[in-house]
Amino acid sequence: MVSDIEISLREELVRCMRILHNKGLISGLGGNASARLPREKAALITPSGRFKGDLAPEDIVKIDMDGRVLEGCLRPSIEGPLHTAIYRSNPHINAVVHSHSPFTTGLALAGRKIEPVNYEAAVLFKDVPILEFRRPGSKELGELVAENIRNRRAVILQNHGVVAVGATPLEALCTIESLEEVSIMIFVASHFGEVKLIPKDLI
Ligand SMILES: [Zn+2]
Repeated sequence: MVSDIEISLREELVRCMRILHNKGLISGLGGNASARLPREKAALITPSGRFKGDLAPEDIVKIDMDGRVLEGCLRPSIEGPLHTAIYRSNPHINAVVHSHSPFTTGLALAGRKIEPVNYEAAVLFKDVPILEFRRPGSKELGELVAENIRNRRAVILQNHGVVAVGATPLEALCTIESLEEVSIMIFVASHFGEVKLIPKDLI
């Protein structure tokens, strides 16, 4: 029998992907999200090759911590190795969301770091690294992210996107949204002139 936790996590993952797509943080086939099922040593993950703005709870695939499919008719996301690598080496992380946030990724392409332009940026994003490019879906990408996300909420993948983690998929989604909001502020400000930062002594 499917547990109540699993039912609500499936719904939350579907909701996250719909929000990411509606907000332009992923295109129709891009991005993925997962949630740990702690008692089962398993995770729920979004499927590969499906339109992400309109998934159904039953489209979500259940995998073990090595990425093998336990339940579900669809193929799991190609970023399965990224999600399972994070869970295997970070027992405190229960949800992972990956987007292709255009402003956050765009700033990183130009080598711009997240600066303390507002409170969130100063406190939550004072240390968001830009990880060098690894092939999407590869074991190497998974290992690099798992290592670097340990004490952080998010990392930026050069030439690719953003990975955020949290206690729930919605929490990780909120981090991706805030990071994109901050990136848009930095982009707009730098278009018109110098970016004004919160003074160091007030952080
Ligand atoms: Zn991606």
